[in-house]
Amino acid sequence: MKTLVLTGIRKIEMIDKPVPVLKNATDVLIRVKTVGVCGSDIHYFAAGKIGTQVVQFPFAVGHECSGIVVETGSSVTRVKPGDLVAIDPSVHCGVCDQCLTGRPHTCRKNMFLGCPGQLDGCLCEYIVMPEFCCFEVNESLNPIQAALVEPLTIGTYSVELANTNFQDKTIGIFGAGPIGLSVLMVLKSKADNTIFCFEPLDYRRKKASELGANYAFNPIETDALETTSEIEPLLLDLVFDCSGEQKAIDDATKVLKPGGKLVLTGIPPEGKYTFDMDMMRRKEITIVNVRRQNHCVEKSIGLIKNGIPVEQMVTHHFKPEATQQAFEMVANYQDGVIKAMIDFF
Ligand SMILES: [Zn+2]
Ligand SMILES: [Zn+2]
Repeated sequence: MKTLVLTGIRKIEMIDKPVPVLKNATDVLIRVKTVGVCGSDIHYFAAGKIGTQVVQFPFAVGHECSGIVVETGSSVTRVKPGDLVAIDPSVHCGVCDQCLTGRPHTCRKNMFLGCPGQLDGCLCEYIVMPEFCCFEVNESLNPIQAALVEPLTIGTYSVELANTNFQDKTIGIFGAGPIGLSVLMVLKSKADNTIFCFEPLDYRRKKASELGANYAFNPIETDALETTSEIEPLLLDLVFDCSGEQKAIDDATKVLKPGGKLVLTGIPPEGKYTFDMDMMRRKEITIVNVRRQNHCVEKSIGLIKNGIPVEQMVTHHFKPEATQQAFEMVANYQDGVIKAMIDFF
């Protein structure tokens, strides 16, 4: 089967591999339909690592996919051959302290699709996943929407962790890539709060406005605090960082009001931030860390079913043979790209 593997920095090649086989009674063989290119794939592509997670080449990336069930193990009941499925790329052990306390996403033995040292990615024609990772969406979603469930879960979970009532809140989002836009769409589905988006790229600000951001500013050309305080002199209740940039953390700290909350969804490529602790302490800002998602797949499927327009993030489609081009484009923010999809069939 066609399989895409990273073979070096900024190099991705198509190789031939045997189709995987079912190993356990709970396994499901899936023919991959379409795969979204994620910012984390791009970190591995461009830098060969995210923080301490380092790629050993060759390595297969990709974790945002939908597919059609081809074969099921003897004990599988959740799905059947022919079903369209959204896939949760996170495989947990089910028996560790984290799993037993309802935190499978921080499972001690968590294995994630397309994550170095864990599982090979889904940029290939067939994958095998345990049935608990498969969510049947035959009637509810199309294959593109099904593949976008995964990035949307990160938005759903970030908003859930913000743990607020979302009535008359003033909210900021730094970064209007797929994750920032996911947070935005989930917020808009909750209530009509006032949302400020901070994003340097014009076309992404435009998309944020189309998807409901009340204000969209360029935080490089304008001063985030100045522009925010002109509109909201009391500043913001809640800020999501979806950029992973130090400057966004600095700006976020400034635009939050005392008692505000900063939700850290973005991934800093070097794994570290510095905080202005004087301001953080004086304002008594709460920081919330987000680790992927927990129990948000079904909720996200429901949100898409109810009309969250996730597919509006998709700007490009590529054939598997053109994956190198797709990755280059996303890595270089070319041609107005937001979400690129690799379509296998
Ligand atoms: Zn992702
Ligand atoms: Zn576990």
